[in-house]
Amino acid sequence: MWPRINDGAAHCDPPPATSGPAVAVRISMSKRTPTRVLVCGGRDWGDAYPIIRELGALVREHPTLKYCIHGDAPGADTLADGIADMFGLKIRPVPAHWKHTSDCASPCKEVVGKAAGPIRNKKMLDMRPDIVLAFHSDFENSRVTRHMVTLARNAHIKTRVFEK
Ligand SMILES: [Zn+2]
Repeated sequence: MWPRINDGAAHCDPPPATSGPAVAVRISMSKRTPTRVLVCGGRDWGDAYPIIRELGALVREHPTLKYCIHGDAPGADTLADGIADMFGLKIRPVPAHWKHTSDCASPCKEVVGKAAGPIRNKKMLDMRPDIVLAFHSDFENSRVTRHMVTLARNAHIKTRVFEK
């Protein structure tokens, strides 16, 4: 029978000391692989091109991207829904609960009205997006979009804002 190569004293030898490459591997492993992009923006955003350009660039840059989270509103969210699908991403819409509807649970405990947008934003943040893209024609005066971007920046999430 042939001796197994792992037999003998060598088997108990400590592994070689870590050198340059092992450290490099550790650094790259500590970075989270981006899997989730969040798109937010204006209800009146009608230009598909910047969303195609930015989502396309992200998908090429990060082949690991798998999900597109958005707030399920008209405008940027709706455009992003179709564009992300075109790029093969799975869509995770998170609608705001602006008012109660016949689809609500009974009794419905969701907050309605103005606070619904920021509450929805918090839900989207809790889905741990890796990158946030915001499309708004008047970002400084936007309420819900700016809130989303502030949440993301405070959480140290890479965020890009586009105004045209
Ligand atoms: Zn409700």
